[in-house]
Amino acid sequence: MQASQRISNILVGGSDGWEVFMRARQMIAAGTPVTELTIGEHDIRTAAPILQDMHRAAMGGHTGYASVPGIPALRDAVAARVTARTGVPTTRDNVLITPGGQSALFAAHMAVIDPGDIALYIDPYYATYPGTLRSASAKPVAINAHASDAFQPRAADIAAVAAGAKSLLVNSPNNPTGVVYSAKTLEGIAQVCRDHDLWLISDEVYDTQIWEGAHISPRSLEGMAERTLVVGSMSKSHAMTGSRIGWVIGPEEMIANLLNLSTHTTYGVAGFVQEAALFALQQGEAFEADIAEPFRRRRDLAHAVLAGQNVVNAVPSGGAMYMMLDISATKLSGDRFANGLLDTHHIAVMPGESFGGAAAGHIRVAMTIEDGAFQRAMGTLCAYADSLTVKS
Ligand code: PLP
Repeated sequence: MQASQRISNILVGGSDGWEVFMRARQMIAAGTPVTELTIGEHDIRTAAPILQDMHRAAMGGHTGYASVPGIPALRDAVAARVTARTGVPTTRDNVLITPGGQSALFAAHMAVIDPGDIALYIDPYYATYPGTLRSASAKPVAINAHASDAFQPRAADIAAVAAGAKSLLVNSPNNPTGVVYSAKTLEGIAQVCRDHDLWLISDEVYDTQIWEGAHISPRSLEGMAERTLVVGSMSKSHAMTGSRIGWVIGPEEMIANLLNLSTHTTYGVAGFVQEAALFALQQGEAFEADIAEPFRRRRDLAHAVLAGQNVVNAVPSGGAMYMMLDISATKLSGDRFANGLLDTHHIAVMPGESFGGAAAGHIRVAMTIEDGAFQRAMGTLCAYADSLTVKS
């Protein structure tokens, strides 16, 4: 018996570049210590008070089916947060609670895509994007951002392929580059969406990790609230990756449609997880800033290491828990560099090529290990890059 084309095609051409990560995991399983700078997962666990609240909710009986669009108090809290952070009036009817941002990305595309519709996205991209679009039966079309523009996408490049497309997926602060889209970039994106009647899917899961500049939600731009679906998550902002809790924000009628999808797919999110999420949101911005702080610190440490050499260059970035490094001076691809670094120094980083062709000649470093070890790993990485360059 054959699987559907849709499911068989999810990974077509989309899994390249993950060998370094898989090899690192195999080395660790075989007993070789590896410094892992691969995955976007905090080195702290979910805070004990959040877990205590989850326990309280579960023991209090919140273990049955929970309200499918989300418990009203959590939808209200998310709506209030979005209103406060973006200035766009948002109510619970604009909020659908989902099991994480990944599920929200899938749901958002299911809401706007008919089979075969063109769904645009920006390269470099978060690794699941093309597969998510294919899962929703879209035809994914990538638009390259350029290293020479510090990976800020050009509106003209998007406009060039926008005719006939249904949606555009953007992500700022960006994984993998750490780039925070400027007001100019986002205004340009919004203009293309308005001109070509595109849905904008705005993945904002890193919106609490801003080191320079400011996060602008494109939903707040003129004429955009009616055509934007925002993907949010508590994975990164509250170190709750395993709890699987996120949301879609959008026009009321789209949220009503999405409720139908949730009813027939996830049937909502565990009530005790939602209660803990509400408790976590009530801890306020200082709590979120504490979760983000180690990445800001390590970014400073990395910049200090990079300042002492001239082979590896950081892509100018302003957010997220990653740094994108240009290693093209070594004349190696990101893939070969990452494999060599793993073999030689047991340090695992992601090749830029894992995130699409636009990031070739780069590597992505996740700043997700303790400061001292991170600083040493950055030093070793730079020394390795230096050892590969031909000295005159
Ligand atoms: N979007 C981006 C850009 C991500 O980097 C991630 C996870 O790394 C997600 C969405 C999905 O996160 P989650 O499903 O844990 O909310």
